[in-house]
Amino acid sequence: MDHRESTSAHMPAHMIALPALISIPALISIIVPFHNEADNIPLLHARLCAVLDAGPDPWELVCVNDGSRDDTLARLVALSARDPRVRVIDLSRNFGKEAALTAGLDYARGDAVIPLDADLQDPPEVIPALIAKWREGFEVVTAVRASREGDGPIKRATAHTFYRVINRMSQVDIPADTGDFRLISRPVLDALKRLPERRRFMKGLFAWVGFRTATITYDRAPRHAGTTTWNYWKLWNFAIEGITSFSSAPLRLASYLGIGVSIFAFCYAIITIFNKLVYGNPVKGYPSLLVAVLFLGGVQLLALGVLGEYLGRLYEESKQRPIYLVRAVWEVSDNNK
Ligand code: UDP
Ligand code: MG
Repeated sequence: MDHRESTSAHMPAHMIALPALISIPALISIIVPFHNEADNIPLLHARLCAVLDAGPDPWELVCVNDGSRDDTLARLVALSARDPRVRVIDLSRNFGKEAALTAGLDYARGDAVIPLDADLQDPPEVIPALIAKWREGFEVVTAVRASREGDGPIKRATAHTFYRVINRMSQVDIPADTGDFRLISRPVLDALKRLPERRRFMKGLFAWVGFRTATITYDRAPRHAGTTTWNYWKLWNFAIEGITSFSSAPLRLASYLGIGVSIFAFCYAIITIFNKLVYGNPVKGYPSLLVAVLFLGGVQLLALGVLGEYLGRLYEESKQRPIYLVRAVWEVSDNNK
């Protein structure tokens, strides 16, 4: 219980995150989204306790239950009854990892927050290194994967390509091989909360806000229990999401394609006329006509699709719906009453 007391004593809202002013201890918030992760809860909690209780800082664990269908919620609630540092935010349905993370960030009270995957792919043992860098004065400390032990070669290759493409296309620099595992200090968190978009590509948002950033590397472990809910189709959509959130380059693509096709058509026309006038070759019409029609039809549909992608995003944003809905919050009543 002494953790709770030091917690409330060291989390004033006005704390300024300058290196010299980061007090020891400071409250650390660990944020974990849970979607059908019941089997991972005991080990996750045990490893967090082992790591964080060894340090000087009090901590809290903000668990967001993202519409789990197994007994994740029951187990989390039981855990929070045993350990008052654990708070449980139960969302009304499955909103997706990004929304769950946003909910966790909104409910975090810490001076520094660390999002973590429930499946122990982000080893809690790295946390002290993150905190140490933060104390050196960095406002964001990203944990970069030194190896992707848990991922197959295809996933590695696609991930690599994705980061190359998105960084070529967008202004913000999204670091490769970085998940959501990082430490964010309070000023950065407050900045993040001011970003109102509904479709949240967290990696991009983290990168967009800037701030002094340090990186440390770690080995990403394979999933501890359960199965990933990601598949290639979801990852593909996630990639589209990232690109359309942070770049309007695809919109320009249509213009360039249009210019390219026009130039090609013009040259082709000249050659055709030349052939006819100089050599008297009969123009063989049908195949080239078919190719031209199909090609242009394809290009037009593609351009329409790209437009539609952005239009759809505008539509979603304009509805101004909340990012997530909370059914209930489980926490031991505030401030050691
Ligand atoms: N997750 C979530 N909502 C979802 C899908 C996943 O909150 O709809 C959580 C999941 O419980 C885990 C984290 O997001 O804590 C990462 O999920 P996963 O391990 O499936 O992704 P991967 O590690 O394969 O990228
Ligand atoms: Mg995982």
